[in-house]
Amino acid sequence: MSDQEESIYGLIGYPLGHSLSPLMHNAAFAALGVQAVYKLFPLKEDELGGFFAELRETTNPIFGLNVTIPYKEKVIPYLDSLSPYALKIQAVNTIVISEHRHFVGHNTDGPGFLTHLKELNFETEKKRIAIMGAGGVTRAILAVLCLLPERPASIRIFDREKNKAKILIEDMSVNNIDVSITAAVDSIDELKIESADFLINATPIGMKADDPCLVDGDLIHPKMCVYDVIYNPAETKLLKLAKARGARVSNGLGMLFYQGVLAFQHWAGMDLEEEIKARMKASLIKGLKA
Ligand code: NAP
Repeated sequence: MSDQEESIYGLIGYPLGHSLSPLMHNAAFAALGVQAVYKLFPLKEDELGGFFAELRETTNPIFGLNVTIPYKEKVIPYLDSLSPYALKIQAVNTIVISEHRHFVGHNTDGPGFLTHLKELNFETEKKRIAIMGAGGVTRAILAVLCLLPERPASIRIFDREKNKAKILIEDMSVNNIDVSITAAVDSIDELKIESADFLINATPIGMKADDPCLVDGDLIHPKMCVYDVIYNPAETKLLKLAKARGARVSNGLGMLFYQGVLAFQHWAGMDLEEEIKARMKASLIKGLKA
């Protein structure tokens, strides 16, 4: 992170829509007094190769990137090395580019989720965890849950496309992760939500006002923790229902925040002070309200 001339950081993906990442990272640059700016790079797939070729130029001022859908796996061939966790899950959401144009891929989605859980005091050790969805977020969450020294008792994953959950689990066992993970097949009933300690929604269902709630409210009990990766709206139908049933609930804003903090720390090569993190969080909240 140079403070001599303006460095550039940014997000690649397509489409990018209303990303909150520029707000969060530009707030941190301003608070640190670093001459840098975070920009959006909406790239079509046929533009990806050319973009990375330009990044290799020593005069290029881009020193760090975030990566979102649909390129978290597709950027890997363009990188020089991966962190052990990114290698394990084969998905990258953060790239650190050195002055010598060495490209290292990291993934902060899972660690961001975990950091948020710790803040919430949502325990996972020996817990029965039920996850709805088997996409990119589930992959990231699953890997961190399985890598913890404090192992969950079991993890069940439901996906309407059955093969996706099964493939995800196969990928995990290929990587020698030894937690009992089961794909809930046929119907969401197989998720056995009523006997879960921790329920996670990792589908986009709940983002739209007319989305249904995937879960029958009677299955939620007061000892349960319910986490929805969605952060806009702040309270999905699932969270409203779970709260009414006495469960402990959280949306995914903390996950978004911590994945950003961890990405920034990779670029900066240092931990951020609480005051800087507070400014990043405030900018996120302001952006959501706008
Ligand atoms: P993804 O890769 O597209 O996966 C979404 C999963 O949800 C898929 O398994 C999909 O199943 C499933 N799904 C979709 N509609 C469903 C339905 N009606 N019933 C059951 N399952 C359904 O997406 P992702 O990247 O994992 O993202 C998931 C959500 O997380 C999105 O809402 C995203 O905005 C949010 N997110 C939050 C954060 C954060 O920091 N808080 C970070 C990233 C993403 P099919 O395969 O059958 O379609």
